[in-house]
Amino acid sequence: VIELCGVTKTFADTNALSAIDLTVHDGEFLVLLGPSGCGKSTLLRILAGLEVPTTGSVRIDGTDVTTTPPRERDIAMVFQSYALYPHLSVAKNIGFPLRTAGLPRKTVADTVAHVAELLDLTPLLRRRPGQLSGGQRQRVALARAMVREPGTFLMDEPLSNLDARLRAVTRTELIALHARLHKTFLYVTHDQVEAMTMADRIALLDKGRIEQVGTPTELYDAPRTVFVAGFLGSPP
Ligand code: ATP
Ligand code: MG
Repeated sequence: VIELCGVTKTFADTNALSAIDLTVHDGEFLVLLGPSGCGKSTLLRILAGLEVPTTGSVRIDGTDVTTTPPRERDIAMVFQSYALYPHLSVAKNIGFPLRTAGLPRKTVADTVAHVAELLDLTPLLRRRPGQLSGGQRQRVALARAMVREPGTFLMDEPLSNLDARLRAVTRTELIALHARLHKTFLYVTHDQVEAMTMADRIALLDKGRIEQVGTPTELYDAPRTVFVAGFLGSPP
């Protein structure tokens, strides 16, 4: 269980996040939804340990991790830009977190093979990222996040670089993957349709505040604010 308690984040003159209280349950698919600039990426980066909140705390399974570095958290992040190493093969990209952690070659190779099989990347292992489609790169980034078997996956608009068809396909794949892995997925998007189709629960943000948290049906049928109704297109 991940708990955010009174989390705020201020950059110079911007209040990116204000008094965020949020509980993420084990194994759920939680979508952080909201317009551009509402603080979604900042929230994800705080969970990943890439930013420290200005005030408030983050707890994972009861342990305070507010200032714990990323590597020591049971969490992996998939970036919007994929952030793959262009000069390394797909196999080396996927195995990178294990190699830097000093694991033996054989263990790294076996894990890479296993994860590649799971995500249909086996035929592509010798290629470089530049020789892949957007959807394939997205899967490589996901594979790299998976090798350390984190309990939680953070994904920041992972489908935004894909065309409409690939986005639909990858969306379905991610839902299936979530069902198979039984891991916690925290997924950022500004796309209502994506949120409605993928989420167990949605946390809808606006201007650094959480407007409402609930299942897609709850938010759509019983929006608590005008903003929620407007954003999800609920009938008046
Ligand atoms: P988008 O959908 O466009 O990615 P977002 O919801 O992810 O938006 P954030 O990136 O979390 O939004 O930014 C929230 C606010 O904080 C914005 O006003 C942004 O300009 C500001 N901000 C984010 N990072 C920094 C930073 N490093 N320095 C200053 N301001 C920042
Ligand atoms: Mg963002």
